[in-house]
Amino acid sequence: MTDSQRVAIVTGAARGIGAATAQRLAADGFAVAAVDLNAANCADTVAAIAAAGGRAIAVGADVSDSAAVETAVAHVAETLGSPSVLVNNAGVLRDNLLFKMSDDDWDTVMSVHLRGAFLCSRAVQKYMVEQKYGRIVSLSSTSALGNRGQANYAAAKAGLQGFTKTLSIELGPFGITANAVAPGFIVTEMTAATAARVGVDFEAFQAARAAETPVRRVGRPEDVAHAISYLASEGAGFVTGQVIYVAGGPRG
Ligand code: NAP
Repeated sequence: MTDSQRVAIVTGAARGIGAATAQRLAADGFAVAAVDLNAANCADTVAAIAAAGGRAIAVGADVSDSAAVETAVAHVAETLGSPSVLVNNAGVLRDNLLFKMSDDDWDTVMSVHLRGAFLCSRAVQKYMVEQKYGRIVSLSSTSALGNRGQANYAAAKAGLQGFTKTLSIELGPFGITANAVAPGFIVTEMTAATAARVGVDFEAFQAARAAETPVRRVGRPEDVAHAISYLASEGAGFVTGQVIYVAGGPRG
């Protein structure tokens, strides 16, 4: 650990892709702020990072709450230092066919994915602009290309691609890149919940998805964390406004 250690913020870091990304960025040398709705839920992530010799703090914030995001980012800056990496990962599902989708299903998904990425990116950009350096990575999805039962989620994940491309144009002159990763099927509690909702055993669900994926396996959170690690690295400074599909195939 040094005074010049770079600081990364990962939202939705209590579990799944966010937890794996927090651990990967810590292994890459970042001091990591693991943000989730409830700080206590990030205890395992922070403990795993500490056990591996890294530095991390847990921060509680709802990414869709403007004041909470501003407070959380200021706390990170005071505690660890100015953030130079943001991973917009926090997410929720409210799947339903269009005719059954409620206003709340729509608004919740838009709030967490789109408004959350907007609020977190706006809060960190001032630190990044001051440093003339930054890396913003947002989680899109293959669902951005359209997915039955996910009109809300697909719209949000497609929206994040337009958001990312726009940030890359606005923030590029300040040494800040903005990119998206678009995972396919990744084994997490989110996909386990989807299997439960459609009434399919999770192992069978995974086997079916693996069979239709060119690399013949499902994804792991570490697969996504690896791509994020690259986009968060200093060497990726000429890669911006891009969407990298991490899907075991070319669905992009
Ligand atoms: P996950 O296991 O459900 O984890 C999501 C995390 O985000 C949870 O810890 C959750 O906290 C947190 N969160 C939810 N709402 C939040 C809010 N308003 N503020 C702060 N934190 C919040 O999901 P995952 O599968 O790891 O997915 C991570 C990201 O990748 C999401 O953006 C997802 O859409 C995207 N993605 C996933 C897949 C996949 O196959 N798994 C594929 C493509 C894209 P609580 O537990 O407290 O709700």
